[in-house]
Amino acid sequence: MQSIRNIAIIAHVDHGKTTLVDKIIHASKIFDAHQQFDDLILDNNDLERERGITIVSKNVSVRYKDVKINIIDTPGHADFGGEVERVLKMADGVLLLVDAFEGPMPQTRFVLGKAIQLGLKPIVVVNKVDKENCRPDEVHEMVFDLMFNLDATEDQLDFVTLYGSSKHGWMSTDWQHPTDNITPLLDAIIEVIPPAPSEEGTPQMQITSLDYSSFVGRIAIGRVKRGTLQEGANMSLCKRDGSIKKVKIKELQVFEGLGRVKVESVSAGEICAVTGIEGFEIGDTLADFENPEPLERIAIDEPTMNMLF
Ligand code: GDP
Repeated sequence: MQSIRNIAIIAHVDHGKTTLVDKIIHASKIFDAHQQFDDLILDNNDLERERGITIVSKNVSVRYKDVKINIIDTPGHADFGGEVERVLKMADGVLLLVDAFEGPMPQTRFVLGKAIQLGLKPIVVVNKVDKENCRPDEVHEMVFDLMFNLDATEDQLDFVTLYGSSKHGWMSTDWQHPTDNITPLLDAIIEVIPPAPSEEGTPQMQITSLDYSSFVGRIAIGRVKRGTLQEGANMSLCKRDGSIKKVKIKELQVFEGLGRVKVESVSAGEICAVTGIEGFEIGDTLADFENPEPLERIAIDEPTMNMLF
């Protein structure tokens, strides 16, 4: 089975998240020896066009050294407390992107705090070191102090830091020694972030976000916690009030590049989109037809509820 890394990205607006994700996608296309999606090789114009269709999905996936890396977007501030938590629950690690001049911003403190609390392993990217008057070493220290104040464990405080310029397409462990690409960051993700565990057993997936298509209606998105989901399978939908609804999986999709591709089955550890599930709500568990076992619900706060329903 393919090895997977699920990493959430936390960045203050304008610190360079979009630019970095573009560069990651480009790099993975160049280095992926087992290119199965030739049509996804992108030039800048294609990227712009593709970006248009992914605004709803927010997740992007790349393959690097036979590993699939799912990059999960997080809301940049604290307004959607519950949303932050459920998005982070899909990840095993977190990439904190910080501007080398501005340093960590108060708005990202909340999200980082949640990630630390959830025990996620951080990787730090100090971005924009090409800028004049930047202060990478100081910013690194600020990030360390912030994590310390957020009660990070020793293991979390022992984070890897990459310095670089998303704009110029390089990342390095030493900002005074630029590389000519961003592969040091991809290598760090593979080495530092734990592989998504593939638990066997009856299937369980917690629905953590949703998408909508005018063709198929509401699409449930989440991480498969245990077992394998199959296209066409009859399932149980475990609801908030304890009731169980019988549903059927119509189609399954996994994230690939800036879009999604249809697959027949999805195993534990992977993040997927499921169509055909009638009447689901965020937080519901999609579970085995015969033996439905709900996962613990995630808190959803009022603003998120209002936004979603
Ligand atoms: P986002 O809001 O976090 O997605 O940030 P963007 O990727 O849109 O970048 C915000 C601005 O910062 C854009 O004008 C980018 O060109 C610029 N930018 C991003 N990365 C770098 C970098 O490494 N160096 C410099 N000098 N500018 C950058």
